[in-house]
Amino acid sequence: MIPIQENIPLAGHTTIRLGGPARYFIHCSTVPEIHEAIAFAREQRLRVQVLGGGSNMVFPDEGFPGVVMRVGLRGIDEQEKDGRMHVRVAAGELWDDVVALFITRGLRGIECLSGIPGYVGATPIQNVGAYGQEVAETIVAVEALERETGESVTFANSECGFAYRQSRFKQDDADRYIITSVTYELDTGGRPEIRYPELQKLIESTVDFNNLPSGAPALGAVRSTVLALRRRKSMVIDPEDPNSVSVGSFFMNPVLSEEEFRRLQARWEERRGAGPIPVFPAPQGNKVPAAWLVEQAGFQKGFRKGGAGISANHALAIINCGGTSTDVLSLARDIRARVREEFGIELVPEPVIVPAWNDR
Ligand SMILES: Cc1cc2nc3c(=O)[nH]c(=O)nc-3n(C[C@H](O)[C@H](O)[C@H](O)COP(=O)(O)OP(=O)(O)OC[C@H]3O[C@@H](n4cnc5c(N)ncnc54)[C@H](O)[C@@H]3O)c2cc1C
Repeated sequence: MIPIQENIPLAGHTTIRLGGPARYFIHCSTVPEIHEAIAFAREQRLRVQVLGGGSNMVFPDEGFPGVVMRVGLRGIDEQEKDGRMHVRVAAGELWDDVVALFITRGLRGIECLSGIPGYVGATPIQNVGAYGQEVAETIVAVEALERETGESVTFANSECGFAYRQSRFKQDDADRYIITSVTYELDTGGRPEIRYPELQKLIESTVDFNNLPSGAPALGAVRSTVLALRRRKSMVIDPEDPNSVSVGSFFMNPVLSEEEFRRLQARWEERRGAGPIPVFPAPQGNKVPAAWLVEQAGFQKGFRKGGAGISANHALAIINCGGTSTDVLSLARDIRARVREEFGIELVPEPVIVPAWNDR
């Protein structure tokens, strides 16, 4: 019988350190344990909330009246295929440990994703990305269990519906599958490709990057530079850094059509905004940094409201300053309302905001 814990505070299992008690908390280390946990929830007629590292979730202060299932499957297998490595990683491995391991082995493809907290199983959910790289570029397969039927399914990359911070697992099929493993395809001994100007600038100012050997040395330099950049922005979890008590970026960067971008420009000019609007080309349009919109709407770094605030080092990170989920969500609502009012743009939250009710 799998151990079932009761009334476990979720604040201890989330990076933003918020959330009341889970009625039941089950840590699953094997696939049969996942089936057992689902059967238990079904018997009790309770909702299941899957949890990885809790770095992209806001649980309610009231807690969660169902079963919180932590997917803690471990294991890494490698296979060489046509000169490239296919590495199948179980969902409960820590993402950043896996990145570090791939880099020491000289495997290229996820080095810019260093320092992102959480587990491997969550990486396809929002197609994690940073510094010009996304996991969708290297994922070749996602293995999952369908919750309703208990059947195992394998999705090829093209079936995952990956887009900017999106996938089928976050949209149409939210809460339908439990991801058990992810397979990444990586280059052996490849030279890292740096696409992000801020990263390029810092790496070139700290090491003689072009003369570093390919493989582990060059990849390692990318990793340490990314980690340094992330630390400056409090975007690595550091128990000593109060600005890292967050879920990372709270809002996604809006991608605007040409028409929407023209309307934004008109509003910006009306406000006699100084300087150009920062904008980056994206496959579906013009990506405008949400951090810029937040700041221009009057929410500066270091802003505080009750027990929540904005990180002193990143305008997009809402932090818990000894408050509650209600405080965090109230500040998020204020920010969205002001950005809507000022710019006519609807910011979309990036983390999963878990409702309190038990809907079964
Ligand atoms: C300081 C900080 C920096 C961050 N920086 C970045 C960044 O640069 N880029 C980025 O993309 N994200 C970033 N994030 C967000 C977050 O780390 C990622 O989204 C991460 O992949 C979440 O992993 P997790 O295991 O913590 O997921 P959780 O928060 O536990 O879960 C997130 C969602 O995934 C679901 N889920 C988790 N595991 C499984 C599974 N095995 N099967 C099915 N569903 C599952 C959950 O149900 C939930 O819906 C950051 C967060 C923090 C706190």
